[in-house]
Amino acid sequence: PAASCNDTTGLTPEDIQQRTNLQYVDQTADPAKRCDNCALYIAAAAGAACGGCNLIKGPINPAGYCASWVAKS
Ligand code: SF4
Repeated sequence: PAASCNDTTGLTPEDIQQRTNLQYVDQTADPAKRCDNCALYIAAAAGAACGGCNLIKGPINPAGYCASWVAKS
């Protein structure tokens, strides 16, 4: 099964709101645009299912997506 990276425990209300504002989703609707091919993605540590993002806080699914997706150059 796909990893779930929606646990926002420990984030501030503002950080959680930013995830909502940017329409973060755990599974992208467009396979060509995924967190793990976004320039802002921070790769998951070895053995971890979720990575991070330089723009929004909290766990980020490599197969996720948000409105600020930008292609890796
Ligand atoms: Fe994923 Fe959005 Fe962060 Fe890019 S900016 S890694 S699409 S959450």
